[in-house]
Amino acid sequence: MYPLDTIVAPATAPGQGAVAIVRLSGPRAFAIVRTLWHPLHPPSSSVAAGRPGDPWRLHLGEIRDPRDNATLDRALCVLMPGPRSLTGEDVAELHCHGGVYLVRRVIALATDAGALIADPGEFSRRAFLNGRIGLTEAEAVADLVSARGENALKQAIAQLDGVLARRVNGLRDRIIYIRAHLEAEIDFADEDLGLPSRDEIAADLSGLLADVILLHDSFARGRIAREGARAAIIGKPNAGKSSLLNLMLGSDRAIVTPIPGTTRDVIEDSIQLGPWPLILEDTAGIRDSMDEVERLGVDRSRRHAADADLIIAVFDSARPLEPEDNAVIALCAGRTGVAVLNKRDLPPMLDEKSLRDRGLTLPVVDFSAVTALGLPELREIVERTVESLCDTARDDGIAITRERHRAALATARDALEAARRNLPAMPPEIIAVDIGVAAEALGAITGEVSTEDILDAIFSKFCIGK
Ligand code: GDP
Repeated sequence: MYPLDTIVAPATAPGQGAVAIVRLSGPRAFAIVRTLWHPLHPPSSSVAAGRPGDPWRLHLGEIRDPRDNATLDRALCVLMPGPRSLTGEDVAELHCHGGVYLVRRVIALATDAGALIADPGEFSRRAFLNGRIGLTEAEAVADLVSARGENALKQAIAQLDGVLARRVNGLRDRIIYIRAHLEAEIDFADEDLGLPSRDEIAADLSGLLADVILLHDSFARGRIAREGARAAIIGKPNAGKSSLLNLMLGSDRAIVTPIPGTTRDVIEDSIQLGPWPLILEDTAGIRDSMDEVERLGVDRSRRHAADADLIIAVFDSARPLEPEDNAVIALCAGRTGVAVLNKRDLPPMLDEKSLRDRGLTLPVVDFSAVTALGLPELREIVERTVESLCDTARDDGIAITRERHRAALATARDALEAARRNLPAMPPEIIAVDIGVAAEALGAITGEVSTEDILDAIFSKFCIGK
């Protein structure tokens, strides 16, 4: 069990609101509540039990400062005894009125009575350590709270339901099973246990590796669902990037000026395109600049274009093609996205054919950031592009959303690849090491790493004691 202080923290966001919840967890949670909250109608059963109220029920009462018995608030209280509580410990919640100062005072009363202010995430950490939730479920709660769209919400709920944990544990069980065979081969080399051949193990490893890679590669899709797709708006200075961003945002987020090179840093904001959040990044214009600050901005814009999920390339149709436009076309090579032929309200100096002749393959939209010509078509193409990036038809729709999961899956993938490579030539001890690394990496995702698992797998699958 976790060594035990009683912790306190607001469970609701700071600010004014109808209700604010102050949460306590730990062995003294109920005793501390009793010093500062007093039921208006104490149930006789709970008084006899020495508790401020019956568990799992909301009770109306008053919060009072024990020093002078002055009433601070009328508040509801609910007591949730461990181990079947959020954290596995005794948990109490005070539902007070949502005032910033009031909440601060209530927390101060709790700390005066011996509670410690909780560290960030400490309630969830206790819940994990007490076996109430797995790591991926704990992370899903964070994803749920920060969800910015329907897809992010769906991913988070699925993860909260343990979909990801089951999938990862399923992969890990298969790894442990293979390792169990290898360990048996090491320990009982002289006995005939009917162990699978190296070819069978190789086939198992290949299937496993493919599934690990599939889950690893779902990261891009999961991140887009959680955070939104990143679209880099690129183009030479004055092509109309900031104007396009503003039009898409429907506000004046970026500064628009006729002096080239105004947007030196990257400006980003997000919009909702159907079910998809889209992060629009207005980058500094692409050009060879003498100005050091601006050059840094240009370098950054190249990097942002490389990291973005899709490109919105802006060309000035009122000017002939310039060397900077060629640099922009080069950045579009092999990328998804859309090209915008802007300023079509002005006499044309550049058309789609000239861009195509230079090798541009992205779809081209005739556009005007001034008259909003082409805006619906641009939104439509971008929405379809994001949709294709999030295509769930390839597997069962589970997507990992966190770098931590991706890194662990990459470790597992590399270790399994090494095992498969070494399988024909190396002794089982060497291969078992790589397999062990893969199992541990996946176990770290759900928080279930333990060598006991390997022993369990050996004894449950083989009748060794016989
Ligand atoms: P950026 O440097 O690429 O971000 O370009 P801006 O958005 O700052 O625009 C540069 C100049 O072009 C500004 O004076 C804008 O008002 C003007 N501009 C942008 N889009 C259009 C357009 O579609 N038509 C016309 N006529 N002018 C535009």
